Amino acid sequence: MAQILKKVVGHESQIQMLLQALEQQRFPSTLLFVGQSGIGKKLVAQGFIQYLVCEKDRGCGSCPACLRVENGQSESFLHITPESGVIRVDKAREIISFISLQNPGKARIILIEDAQLMNEQTANALLKSLEEPPERTYFILLVPSIASVLPTIRSRAQVVRFGALPLAQLEKISQIKEEWILKSAQGSVELAEQLQNEDLSLLRQRSLDIWVDLLEGAPERAIETVKELVKDRQGALQVCRIWQQLLRDSGYYRHGVHEVIHKDFVHLIQRLADYSDSVLGTLGVEAYGLEQDIRGNLDRSLAFENYLYQSQNVFQTDTEARHE
Ligand SMILES: [Zn+2]
Repeated sequence: MAQILKKVVGHESQIQMLLQALEQQRFPSTLLFVGQSGIGKKLVAQGFIQYLVCEKDRGCGSCPACLRVENGQSESFLHITPESGVIRVDKAREIISFISLQNPGKARIILIEDAQLMNEQTANALLKSLEEPPERTYFILLVPSIASVLPTIRSRAQVVRFGALPLAQLEKISQIKEEWILKSAQGSVELAEQLQNEDLSLLRQRSLDIWVDLLEGAPERAIETVKELVKDRQGALQVCRIWQQLLRDSGYYRHGVHEVIHKDFVHLIQRLADYSDSVLGTLGVEAYGLEQDIRGNLDRSLAFENYLYQSQNVFQTDTEARHE
């Protein structure tokens, strides 16, 4: 039993702006909440849904209407989510029938998660409702980026942009303490929670150890380890990401920026930072190329093996050049 809006951490200016619109009775009928997933857009939306349906005052959080929103049982609120990665036209029909029901004097809200996944047919079916919704009918659409939304939808909505959460807020919401996780999560609670699981911790450890092996001239051991780590695609993509971060960390470190993501591997970062910008740059670019290859379903073991041998060569060439 609670006022959902009070649970939101951050996004003060966006909330303030919308509260003001409510006060002045000009709350937009179609809202587009833009921002990466896991930062609290949905919670803000649910908070305002309470405001809109509340039987007492200002989304009190305790009247029956507010409670039903919190429990996901509100007859005034339709929650649309994608199925198998798409929002098909039958959802548009569901929405249209929902808003055509008689509901005198009460608000009706449609929350569409991942609205960028509406196909064109769905979007077209909704255009008229989005443009001229019946009285006291509100649409809130959640999307990761403005570019992902069809222009026809975009032009009919008021856009509210949500930024990534600062580290301190991320830490507060997720209760996660490990610095590398907070820094890798790009301001998203969802991503931080994914990163926290133990398997990933171990995977990070081992994928960074690979570079220690490589620097110590033991590429065979490095390759043996990597083959185990990249047996599944998800693991392979994680390894790519961790390596990209490591190389970026090393580049920063080289230029005196010591605030790095993988602080507990600073011994490794220091060693890498001894190499030239060109070496680190090449390896970094190649690590992004590697990620593309994995996404393109290339043979994972082979792609990683090639990457590590190439890296080994780049290190050797650089070392020889320095000794000449
Ligand atoms: Zn209430």
